[in-house]
Amino acid sequence: MDAPYCNVALPVPLRTTFTYAVPESLRGAVQPGTRVLVPFRKKSMVGVVVELVEQAPSGTKVREIAKVMEFAPALTPKLIELAHWIAGYYLAPVGEVFRSMLPPLTELRSHREIVLTQAGRNAVESLGGQEPSHRLTTAERAFLEKMHVRKGAAPISLAAKAGITSAMLQKLQQRGLIEIRESLLGKKRKPLPRLLKLAHISRPLIDRMLRDAVVESWEEPIDPAEDPFDTGYTPPAHALNEEQESAMKLIRARFELGEFGVQLLHGVTGSGKTEVYLRSVQETLARGKTALILVPEIALTLWIGRQCRAWFGAKFEGVAVLHSALSDVERAREWWRVRNGEARVVVGTRSAVFVPLQNVGLIIVDEEQENSYKQEETPRYNGRDVAILRAKMEGALALLGSATPSLETYHHARNGKYELLTLASRVENRSLANVEIIDLREDFQQTHQTNPISSKLHAAIQESLAAGTQALVLINRRGYSWSVLCRSCGASVQCANCSISMTYHKHRNRLECHYCGSIQPVPKQCPKCQSQYVYFFGEGSEHLEERLRKEFPGARIARLDRDTARTKRQYQETLGAFAAGALDILVGTQMLAKGHDFQRVTLVGVVSADSSLSLPDFRAAERTFQLLTQVAGRAGRGELPGRVLIQTFYTEHYAIQDSVNQDYASFFERELHFRRMMAYPPFTSLANVIVRNTSQEKAIQWSRQLSEYFSPHDGKGARILGPAAAPLARLKKEHRYQFLLKSPKRSVLTKLLTGALAFCDAKEIPQTAILVDMDPLSLL
Ligand code: ADP
Ligand code: ZN
Ligand code: ZN
Repeated sequence: MDAPYCNVALPVPLRTTFTYAVPESLRGAVQPGTRVLVPFRKKSMVGVVVELVEQAPSGTKVREIAKVMEFAPALTPKLIELAHWIAGYYLAPVGEVFRSMLPPLTELRSHREIVLTQAGRNAVESLGGQEPSHRLTTAERAFLEKMHVRKGAAPISLAAKAGITSAMLQKLQQRGLIEIRESLLGKKRKPLPRLLKLAHISRPLIDRMLRDAVVESWEEPIDPAEDPFDTGYTPPAHALNEEQESAMKLIRARFELGEFGVQLLHGVTGSGKTEVYLRSVQETLARGKTALILVPEIALTLWIGRQCRAWFGAKFEGVAVLHSALSDVERAREWWRVRNGEARVVVGTRSAVFVPLQNVGLIIVDEEQENSYKQEETPRYNGRDVAILRAKMEGALALLGSATPSLETYHHARNGKYELLTLASRVENRSLANVEIIDLREDFQQTHQTNPISSKLHAAIQESLAAGTQALVLINRRGYSWSVLCRSCGASVQCANCSISMTYHKHRNRLECHYCGSIQPVPKQCPKCQSQYVYFFGEGSEHLEERLRKEFPGARIARLDRDTARTKRQYQETLGAFAAGALDILVGTQMLAKGHDFQRVTLVGVVSADSSLSLPDFRAAERTFQLLTQVAGRAGRGELPGRVLIQTFYTEHYAIQDSVNQDYASFFERELHFRRMMAYPPFTSLANVIVRNTSQEKAIQWSRQLSEYFSPHDGKGARILGPAAAPLARLKKEHRYQFLLKSPKRSVLTKLLTGALAFCDAKEIPQTAILVDMDPLSLL
């Protein structure tokens, strides 16, 4: 148990772990899952112990662990197993997999708590007699007695005051007498003085900046019970309808079996899937197990989180909410609440699939088809697929929900690999919204203007304003214009690091690259030919908002996209105002299309359905169909009927036609036919391999070498296409070349890629130059 060595996963882009010696004083405190500080090259780094070992690899100099970061191992054994699986399946650097699993390292140490265990209690109670003193020193004895009297948890400082060193604490912990927990709960923090100190800024300076409105300041409640968004909210209490009941019956039957299974809840928009989710969570808790709900957008964690807190979180404590718009402190606190078993229901976005819940009975993946479940940086995992695997490891039920399931998932449901549960109609027999297409070619012939808002959409918004109902207007790009072009020479302003045009942001008065984040001043003249005729085209959400304000001067309008909503508070403000009826029109990107249940929305306008359809990607049609159907699902959810207007140039495309009829079955058949013909998923597995480097020469040279490895394998159970310049030929200063691997058997791809990576190592091609994307969602 007290092994002298351990293997540590470090957050570096390498496919190995590293062996370190465990100093005598830390033996026992170092367990699989513990975070440790270690020397690495010339730096110190925090990594996580993945296993204890008796021996170090011979011939290398083994260095020592410097420090243990937490008393309790952060990761459970199951999560360690999951990480190894992900590293193997996605051929991802193991340290980076672990990094995405772990909570932020915050100032948690000052919030450690000590709890006396039952064994500790028994030990103290037997101390009075003449029995041997359990090998305790006088100080330890005194300390345990103090803990016994105290009953609840004690801050770690109590130990220090009693003269108990951390080595002694570790010993007591190992012997099972105490438990040490990382916790932030109930601690009020005063972050401003700390911030000032870190930034070397004085208080008067900040006060002046606040007065001049250069900076903004507010209190962010870190205790969920203080969140005004959640308090005072009563969820609707519905009796389930027949369809919901029969879905619940099948879910219950699964729970009775008590083993792993996957179910697909295919329910049209507004059919009451959430209600089914909440009841299945309830039944999971009743069986003494825990539940995880994954949603595709931060905004949705707010709605579902709120409902879960109202249902399950007596004083909100049983529910944790995790997403990337939380501050590090909030995220760490929520994470440790789960780790300590205080929260038994978790609602979160993609990375929440790694929460340290134990005894998991149910994992729900809402809107399972969403791209946002796919992480587009290393490790390139798909949260939905990891959820299914995790459910398998836990013997739990994976419940996938959607109105528009992905082709893969529905295919599995049809051939019996998953169980299909269907909600075919909206609750209370409400009808689906009426979807109409606006042919932009016709609109242009009539008006001879290019306006993002066609005359028909304008009239519909006017109507909704007059009726006092609400409208959602969607556009799939943010910023003001997504292209800056010279009318004289035709040059467009490209990012200096990427082969992509810069987006103009009017309010910020600059150009931004949405891929690498670089910025440029707005050019007054063409950077190439110096002409004055620089113009901006391609509307984004910022432009659309401006346009709407001009056309509807009296209306109350707000915009929701990644530029206006960065923090949880900003999301809450805008969504809350819209839900409360304080806004007439909400403009935004596709984050508005998903899942929201706004009761007074009667009109949804989609400014352009085409940009997603014209992408050079085999999933373009599927994505467009999903997006439009989801969007249509936002209208007419309450008692008022809904109307949806979709503007497009491609009126005949089947993705558009089927979404007008909201006919999933028809779309599925047509798309499946196309996939079979073209040998795309679900009929083949895909892997995308990118060779990248800042030097184009090297990138080309390495892709040629890799091609030597691949060529002899082509046609033997796998098709290998490439190398070719990637559609995004340059990204973040790197040149990119691409191979596409196809095989009906995924195991063939895994074997091929494992071989390819070993080959690259042998040829001394740096590991960071080869990017593997298993089951890619996008081929860009
Ligand atoms: P979905 O996720 O399928 O689009 P929701 O779960 O958001 O649909 O439910 C849509 C609306 O129907 C919500 O306002 C919800 O409160 C309501 N609802 C759910 N179940 C019922 C029911 N059995 N009877 C009446 N209303 C219901
Ligand atoms: Zn020019
Ligand atoms: Zn860029």
